Amino acid sequence: MAVSAAQDMEERQDLQDQRDALSSIDWPERPTVQSLGEAIGRLRGMRVVIAPIPEGIRSAEVNGLTVSVGSAAKVYYDPRLAPLNCTQTILHELAHVLHGDVCAERSAASYRTTFDTPQERRAELTATRLMLELNRRIRGSDLLDFLSGRAARAHRP
Ligand SMILES: [Zn+2]
Repeated sequence: MAVSAAQDMEERQDLQDQRDALSSIDWPERPTVQSLGEAIGRLRGMRVVIAPIPEGIRSAEVNGLTVSVGSAAKVYYDPRLAPLNCTQTILHELAHVLHGDVCAERSAASYRTTFDTPQERRAELTATRLMLELNRRIRGSDLLDFLSGRAARAHRP
């Protein structure tokens, strides 16, 4: 399949932006989804709050969503997900915050459902990279705690 030069350049620019965004994260010494969320929030001048989707508004289609309220980014995840899927969902939402898809200046919401827009694909790719980076930084039992979701639960408000 032929890709036009303009498209090609756009994709390369996207990849560059993605690398820049990832390398600008000031990684916490002991990364958890919570501390990583706070680090990403600081980059965007937002306070990141991670919480389960309130029971009344859970739906089968939405695994996670982020809503900006003032300068807070509220990242919600479906606590019924398998732990690894749950972590991936939260990282996907944090990726939206990182890329400025959700920001304090305008009221914005992002929903994790399907990945058929460039913004969604970018968030999903970044989430995967964040997961790999976390794996690299977390060792042994800490990693097991993290992947089993204990880290997320331990930091629920
Ligand atoms: Zn998304």
